[in-house]
Amino acid sequence: MKTTRFETRLLHTPYEKQDPYRALSMPVYHTAAYEFDTAEAMETAFCGRTSDHAYSRITNPTVQYFEDRIRAVTGALSVTALNSGMAAISNVLMSVAYTGANVVTSPHLFGNTYSLLKNTLGAFGVEARFCDLTNPDEVRKRVDANTCAIFLEVITNPQLEVADLKSLAAIGRENGVPLIADTTVVPFHVFHAAQFGVAIEIVSSTKYISGGATSIGGLIIDHGTFDWSRSVRLKEPCAQYGAGAFTVKLRKEIHRNLGAYMTPQVAYMQTLGLESMPVRFERQAATCLELAQRLQSTARVEAVNYTGLPSNPYYELSRSQFGAYPGAMLTFDLASREACFTFMNKLRLVCRATNLFDNKTLAIHPASTIYGGFTEEQRRGMDISQKTIRLSVGLEHPDDLYADLFQALG
Ligand SMILES: *Cc1c(COP(=O)(O)O)cnc(C)c1O
Repeated sequence: MKTTRFETRLLHTPYEKQDPYRALSMPVYHTAAYEFDTAEAMETAFCGRTSDHAYSRITNPTVQYFEDRIRAVTGALSVTALNSGMAAISNVLMSVAYTGANVVTSPHLFGNTYSLLKNTLGAFGVEARFCDLTNPDEVRKRVDANTCAIFLEVITNPQLEVADLKSLAAIGRENGVPLIADTTVVPFHVFHAAQFGVAIEIVSSTKYISGGATSIGGLIIDHGTFDWSRSVRLKEPCAQYGAGAFTVKLRKEIHRNLGAYMTPQVAYMQTLGLESMPVRFERQAATCLELAQRLQSTARVEAVNYTGLPSNPYYELSRSQFGAYPGAMLTFDLASREACFTFMNKLRLVCRATNLFDNKTLAIHPASTIYGGFTEEQRRGMDISQKTIRLSVGLEHPDDLYADLFQALG
């Protein structure tokens, strides 16, 4: 059964050890620590010579099973599950950055990621070098000997900008710099990050994977394809561990020291969510495309942004990277901020909530919420408009969704 497909592998990843009761669901190992038979066994485990569990900040069988399933379906070298998408992003950046380093990135970033780069890492002397990642010449000019990563979101939220990943990865390789991508908006059975040169993939598993927004989580997926020999932080582990250098640094140092491992309860819920992700995504993304098409010809909607629409400037690039259904999120512009607030207040079915890819459809006015803490000038720099509504499309019937949007626009 070596040739099983994604959906099948997702459900039938074997357990590392057989459960004594033959439980069909992975039990939740609700424990902080694990007992050893001898001092010698303890020594070998603590020195990393065996993979026995010792303490649940470092590994836990339930969380490891969730990681194993994602490894099985992505073919990655390693997967680390953390307790939020932001924890995943900060663990990755703390593994590669250092005082005096810079991260070449776009100003089009998830709000907290922007703040992490600019404020939190900025305070430690790491420069966030914002530029236009859709312009490879500009990126080439901004990368230098102290660039520790090119970081981007594969479809930016909420601008829905798409950069050419293969050309960014090539610029990275020429300069010994990894391409690190937040791929939260397109699930990994649709978008194969490693094929586009992404070295480290980050996913907020709060979104598609959790299955109905049950819990917060994040994943670090190391594709094991990058040559870390020119990385200031990783050249030493690279001499010893080769392509495994990032994972060794992360698992033996950063992840233990920051202490943000996923809890077993969350891993249980998200393992279950993962099982149904492909079917939920298929439905949500198809409804999203249909709503994008219908909103395009709806009165009072000034513009619809979804990279799966042939009229979208990123359509061809998006199709070549993500296929026909680039996620289940769209945005649209109304006449003004006031029109957006009126629309939001008239919604009856669509929920006024942040978050993405819940089973329920969610609407938000990003400028006044996610980006509410930024100045108008900063918002302009990030292309956050007061006229934009973001819609995360759920599993409701598309006709019911359109009817609600239509009446709220009326
Ligand atoms: C939600 C989100 C995050 C943050 O994830 P959390 O699980 O909320 O910490 C990061 N990036 C993108 C693109 C997101 O949508």
